[in-house]
Amino acid sequence: MEVEKKMGALDRIYEIYDEFSDGLDVACEKACTHCCTTNVMLTTLEGYQIVGHLTAAGKPAVIEQLADLSALKRYQPQVSTNRLAELVAADAKVPPEDPAEPLAPCPLLKDKLCTIYDLRPFGCRCFFSRHNCAETGFADIDDFTASVNTVFLQVIEHLDQAGCSGNLIDVLQVLASENHRQDYENGALKCETHQLIENWPLKVLMIPPEHRKRMEPLLEQLRKIKA
Ligand code: SF4
Ligand code: SF4
Repeated sequence: MEVEKKMGALDRIYEIYDEFSDGLDVACEKACTHCCTTNVMLTTLEGYQIVGHLTAAGKPAVIEQLADLSALKRYQPQVSTNRLAELVAADAKVPPEDPAEPLAPCPLLKDKLCTIYDLRPFGCRCFFSRHNCAETGFADIDDFTASVNTVFLQVIEHLDQAGCSGNLIDVLQVLASENHRQDYENGALKCETHQLIENWPLKVLMIPPEHRKRMEPLLEQLRKIKA
């Protein structure tokens, strides 16, 4: 599938999610940035879209600055969401994850605002809390929204199943290289070489039984997307 078509499908997925999240009762507001850290994950499709837009807008410096952060401690996932779903469904051993602490602010944050807000990946779009995280020290999200977020992560990974996932710092740096962008377009990007993990096709949807009926209208919209 061509990357352009995949990006069109990604935009539609974001749109469906934004319509869903508009109705959430959350404490999130502009310039609230405790959730903007160096632990943001995304797929290569999302990274490809972000880098492409920034380059076209004459803002390559936003990406170039990430090279200085290569030594920064950050969360680098061991297993993708779809792979995790399969392992859990098979009752198999799940590799341990090592979340990076303490967290540093996201390098794309400037004056308490996201410099790529309209382009931000799903990992940022789905971060909500019913209470201000600064007061509680953690995000508080209802179970159904957490299930919706997982399904959307799975669908986006499936769309980019020939690609990789990883930390925002790693993914954007890799895709800032024209050679790597071409490798990605040709389905030839080597995930491991770049500290990324392989994406996996969606085989098992992680939806708890009590959320299946309520989730159906969203699934119906996602099924209609033509990529
Ligand atoms: S998730 Fe927490 S830190 Fe992020 S915008 Fe919402 S309340 Fe603020
Ligand atoms: S990309 Fe933007 S929204 Fe996402 S963590 Fe960084 S500053 Fe926050």
